[in-house]
Amino acid sequence: MKREIDPHAQEEDRPELSLRPQSLSDFIGQRAARENLRVFVEAAKNRGEALDHLLLFGPPGLGKTTLAHIVSRELSVGFRATSGPVIAKAGDLAAILTNLEPHDVLFIDEIHRLNPAVEEILYPAMEDFQLDLIIGEGPAARSVRIDLPRFTLVGATTRSGLLTQPLRERFGIPLRLELYEVDELTEIVARGARVLKIMMTPEGAAEIARRSRGTPRVAGRLLRRVRDFTEVAGIAVIDAKAADAALLRLDVDSRGLDTMDRRYLSCMAENYGGGPVGVETLAAALAEQRDVIEEVIEPYLMREGLVQRTPRGRMLSDSGFRYIGLEPPRDPARQLAFALPVEEP
Ligand code: ADP
Repeated sequence: MKREIDPHAQEEDRPELSLRPQSLSDFIGQRAARENLRVFVEAAKNRGEALDHLLLFGPPGLGKTTLAHIVSRELSVGFRATSGPVIAKAGDLAAILTNLEPHDVLFIDEIHRLNPAVEEILYPAMEDFQLDLIIGEGPAARSVRIDLPRFTLVGATTRSGLLTQPLRERFGIPLRLELYEVDELTEIVARGARVLKIMMTPEGAAEIARRSRGTPRVAGRLLRRVRDFTEVAGIAVIDAKAADAALLRLDVDSRGLDTMDRRYLSCMAENYGGGPVGVETLAAALAEQRDVIEEVIEPYLMREGLVQRTPRGRMLSDSGFRYIGLEPPRDPARQLAFALPVEEP
């Protein structure tokens, strides 16, 4: 099912249509990460060195790719992008690494999906800027060592927990991106409207922001869809009412939840009495991939306090029950489960 609030990259990310900010000062939100990055970039530039390897983690659509681009621009160095699943063999990575210029940024998206054999040769490349390759097979095989230019690896992952320990340890700068606040998203929507030359009131921007699940990519997508609806309806300026009407037609409710989220909440309430229920069970019941549930659906529902993680599985909170129009059960075991410490994601 295609979701209007799917945060995965799609047609809107084509460069000519892009709303991507181009510099750190254009980048809205993620204050802590942004300010730290500014210092590290400045320091690396002053010393004339490559920036330390950088790991960006957080749910899809929060700006990891955007930040990687910005870092290379701020450092005035080249940018190469690839992704974990694309690098099939050690030789593929070797080809990329040996073509880098000094201080270049190499961006590897979905770095947790690197093939272990490839990961193995990435370690010395990151640490000592050397590539150890085995050439040939059997008794004739020999190992060659190639010196690499100093480069900056920017790795992006939706969940740092999926990274192997040795890989994680080789990143000097780990930065976690969080879901955005509504006021930050309002600024992002307003900026997007300016770039796309859409007339919009501040209230219209705030309405779209509130319903973007804390995710700039979703905000950008909703902005374009709202524009489609209002254009066809002959509305010149998008205000809160016009935005609301369009978003309801897209089935995005007043808090940014769509059919999929409501199915998730109802499934927990009706099939599992509000939990605790394991993610695999939910994935099977909803016919969704586990990754989608964990990376796309749950982070926002958790931030909104509708769902909680407990040591025994996911649980629907009292407000989760009320959200779908049900009374929360008055069960002492349930209250106890909420009181237990939260499991690490
Ligand atoms: P990720 O790599 O984390 O999946 P991207 O960097 O591709 O996310 O960002 C998704 C979209 O959201 C981009 O098209 C970009 O225009 C927009 N975006 C992300 N972060 C910001 C931000 N802080 N300000 C404005 N737009 C942003």
